[in-house]
Amino acid sequence: MARIETELFSSDARCSYCGEWRQLQRDHIIPRCKGGSDDKSNIAVSCWPCNRLKSGLSLDEARLLLNQRRFGWPRFNLEQVKWLKQNNFDISLLEGPLLFEEDCLTGRK
Ligand SMILES: [Zn+2]
Repeated sequence: MARIETELFSSDARCSYCGEWRQLQRDHIIPRCKGGSDDKSNIAVSCWPCNRLKSGLSLDEARLLLNQRRFGWPRFNLEQVKWLKQNNFDISLLEGPLLFEEDCLTGRK
């Protein structure tokens, strides 16, 4: 466990979702309440506000909420996001890749 903490909180560590480098915590990418493990592959660095926002949501459930936070878009709350999806509004452009997914796509990590 100690080694994971060292890697997660190295000097260039930043939030996987918004890029913040303060108030970093460990986030379970698949929440434990949804069966996510404590394995390193399921742990991401997250700032406290993103971690709180994501809470027990899956990555895809939290995607729009996290991107809104990152880019400062007009805010939908979780209930509104669910309603928009249920009513087939196309919010795919807003959902987009999360910061750490962009890093993977561009080979920065
Ligand atoms: Zn963050």
